[in-house]
Amino acid sequence: FEAGFPGGQASTTDKLHNYPGFPGGVGGPELMSLFMQQAEEAGMMTEYTGVSALELTDERKIITAEGGEQFEADAVILCMGAKARKLDVPGEEMNIGRGVSYCATCDGALYRDKDVVVVGGGNTAVEDGLYLARFCKNVTLIHRRNELRASGHDVERLKALPNVQFRLQETVTAIERFENGLLLHLGSGGTMRTDGLFVAVGTVPQTELLAGQVELDAQGYVAAGEDTCTSVAGVYAAGDIRTKPLRQVVTAAGDGAVAATAAAAYVSGK
Ligand code: NAP
Repeated sequence: FEAGFPGGQASTTDKLHNYPGFPGGVGGPELMSLFMQQAEEAGMMTEYTGVSALELTDERKIITAEGGEQFEADAVILCMGAKARKLDVPGEEMNIGRGVSYCATCDGALYRDKDVVVVGGGNTAVEDGLYLARFCKNVTLIHRRNELRASGHDVERLKALPNVQFRLQETVTAIERFENGLLLHLGSGGTMRTDGLFVAVGTVPQTELLAGQVELDAQGYVAAGEDTCTSVAGVYAAGDIRTKPLRQVVTAAGDGAVAATAAAAYVSGK
């Protein structure tokens, strides 16, 4: 079941530099399209619809699609991933799509030759900064601590760019409209004008449909180990939705293989 476009967050990543087999990197949409083709070659069928309800605790699992149609299954693999966390500050919600964005590769092109701000200090913020710096006039990265959470070559590449500035130990506390753009109120007391604000402050798992059925961890991710088994027999969790130390495409792909094998064994053992 696919509610949007195949590939999830990886499809909105400009370039992946840490997926094996692609020295020099590979485009996120390109890699996800290859994943999709290969899965379809192996017999995968796709229902392009959101899911509005899951009943997982009985032996027969019931999946209700948004249109109301119901599907039954012996086993279910949960891979709903995670979505962007909001800053949760005044003015954010009302400016989504009017200057505030959670996806640099989706909306970045609207800010060609303009000034933009990225908030966050993780891998996503750094990747967004690198992407936007290619065509925006100035990119300012605002991060609440003195050091970035992200590490590796991308950080060094970002620091070396002449049109990228860093404002560390800084936060955005409110957003308002100003001169065809935005005025950011900062934790340090000042304000800053920008054309676009890209929020990259982490993700929250998409586990709303699982409440009361499958055990979740304290952060709301599905409590499942490397075997991808959840607290419910016949239900597996793969990728960013599961408790895990490293959220990358390579670890999600590994989960997929483990979960599919476990689900097949469970079904054939019935
Ligand atoms: P992340 O690693 O959780 O980083 C979130 C960043 O936002 C942190 O720097 C955090 O600050 C900051 N933050 C959180 N809440 C905030 C708030 N309310 N206000 C201001 N700043 C806030 O999130 P991510 O970068 O989206 O990455 C998500 C996961 O995907 C991670 O596991 C990441 O490693 C993975 N990922 C991997 C790749 C890759 O391998 N190439 C690419 C993208 C994402 P603190 O540092 O102070 O906590």
